[in-house]
Amino acid sequence: MSNQNTSFNHRSFYVNFGEHLQNAWNVNLLYPGAPNQWSDADWNNFLTMIKAFGFTCFEYWLAPTLYDHGALKHEQLYAGFASIMRKVTDMAHKHGLMTKYICAPNVIGPRWFHACPNDREQKKLILDLWRHWIQELPGTDIVSIFPGDVGGCNRNGCTHETFINLCLELTGIIKQVNPSACSEINTWGTPFAGWGSDLRSVPDWDGSFEMITDPIYAVPGSDNYEFNGKPDRAKAAMEYLIAQLPAFPGDTMVAINLGFSPLGDADRGGDARSYAREIAKLRRITSWDYYLCEAELITHPHWRLPRMSARRREERSAAPYYGGTCYTMTPKLNLLTFYAGGQLFLNPDADPDLVSHEFCSKVFGSEHAIIGELFEAFEVVDGMGHFPRRRWSKEVLRHKYSEIIERLEAADVSGCSLPLFPDPEIYRQDLLWFARKFHEMSGANPDRKKIEQEYWEKSVKIYDIIPMSVDQRARTAAKQFSMILS
Ligand SMILES: [Zn+2]
Repeated sequence: MSNQNTSFNHRSFYVNFGEHLQNAWNVNLLYPGAPNQWSDADWNNFLTMIKAFGFTCFEYWLAPTLYDHGALKHEQLYAGFASIMRKVTDMAHKHGLMTKYICAPNVIGPRWFHACPNDREQKKLILDLWRHWIQELPGTDIVSIFPGDVGGCNRNGCTHETFINLCLELTGIIKQVNPSACSEINTWGTPFAGWGSDLRSVPDWDGSFEMITDPIYAVPGSDNYEFNGKPDRAKAAMEYLIAQLPAFPGDTMVAINLGFSPLGDADRGGDARSYAREIAKLRRITSWDYYLCEAELITHPHWRLPRMSARRREERSAAPYYGGTCYTMTPKLNLLTFYAGGQLFLNPDADPDLVSHEFCSKVFGSEHAIIGELFEAFEVVDGMGHFPRRRWSKEVLRHKYSEIIERLEAADVSGCSLPLFPDPEIYRQDLLWFARKFHEMSGANPDRKKIEQEYWEKSVKIYDIIPMSVDQRARTAAKQFSMILS
């Protein structure tokens, strides 16, 4: 069994810049002409930071907007994205970082159409687009084949076996077009979210995201249109995967978390540990806990360090994990989380409180090391992966926010010894903005209408310009932010 020095050689930093997760702290690569695009210098500073924090790989989603017919015609949006990503990949390699993209191979276009691999025409589109992107992004080191959320199919007899078979075919294309790249089969979900019986059964489903998520088809007792697989399905899927794995190239990786759910908590598809151990005998395994570091949609400074370190230790004892992933939709905001994410991969036994002190000491000066533990007061927002260590009273929180404000106002970041992106001063100002809003919301009768508007302006104003995603949760994020501590 592995120990702390041989685990987690692969430490991936995953930025999800999908259609529904655009915000001021994310990068916009999907909407030319809209804000939040990064310059070459921005990319360079970003890569320098994640390398310094301990990561080995920059990972991104080849979002469905890019995975569409226009790509095959080399239209500007797609060619422009490919050009930027080739440049970013070259930069990453110069920093000693790998690049990985993840793609749900059957989700087409900004409306998130779910193509069916058992439909001849739609299968051809899947394979053509897959080949196109492998060709367009030739320096990519790892291509992760993502089952669903969004993605999957249960039309025309599709099941988890269809997805696994598709993975084998797609891996063949990767090896043919870019032999130096390896593939990662992601088991995300219960496992294989959205395939076969995991997906809600909708009569005459047309493959649209709107129809599969329409509440009129909701089944009592199921809170989601997907993630409905039970442990018996997980067993069948894992047995099929394990039987097929020897046919995959030797460098293939399998992403599997400890519990067949977005939180790795064994609350849906069951306990994954025995399967992780079996798979690890055949191919390298990586972990994938999407909501470990951060939730989706309400952007704010997170503080989930104890859970992050605990999860790394659980993985270390459960199976010989080769690596794992830290997800963010706020690459310019949650810098403490990223630092801790990298450091806790390198040393899962590190004390998370000391890691937070260390980060804040390096950024704000040793006299302000304590800001790291004060940040825990930001972790009060309901959302996926929110498992707070404490249940604060509002009175104590208010005091903590005052102290954060006081310290951030006093801190001089000119001596910052970590390479940060954005600039340490911008980071300090953004944190101050959040501390002041949280302080306001912990007080008597905050003007929540005003806060909602301020958050929209600060975080998701881009949606005044770009189309609202087919997943419309960004629309309600400002409202939800304004209700914190209500
Ligand atoms: Zn199908």
